Amino acid sequence: MKEIHALTRDEVIETVAKHLIGNYWLGYLEPGGNLHVKWIGRSLKWDKNGLQKRLLDHASEGKYTHFTFRKASSVTEAYNIECREYHILRDQLDNIRHPDSPRLLNYSCEYCNHHLRPFGRSFTAGGAVHG
Ligand SMILES: [Zn+2]
Repeated sequence: MKEIHALTRDEVIETVAKHLIGNYWLGYLEPGGNLHVKWIGRSLKWDKNGLQKRLLDHASEGKYTHFTFRKASSVTEAYNIECREYHILRDQLDNIRHPDSPRLLNYSCEYCNHHLRPFGRSFTAGGAVHG
């Protein structure tokens, strides 16, 4: 199970290493301790501090209170996870645009053409799904 962290600059610096690529989920903490996801994102760049920088920017915005993240070992992996999460969670997300394909790479979303089983509207991060 993923750890859920408070979305503050101090917490991001403490928990997210520099120069990581990967995915992140932002939202609010539910009474049961799960993250109610409202925003998904990614960083595909190892330079400029990658994932940590993106999360610091979100922390400065102050729109969401909590986050969780997952580091990825390749751009393809991060993109595929972002697409999967988008299709699973899009009914509850604030970012409604489909993730862009990574620049200069010709990947396409493998989930657009597949029927996904519907999940409940209150689907949350945590538990085995993001395991
Ligand atoms: Zn898609």
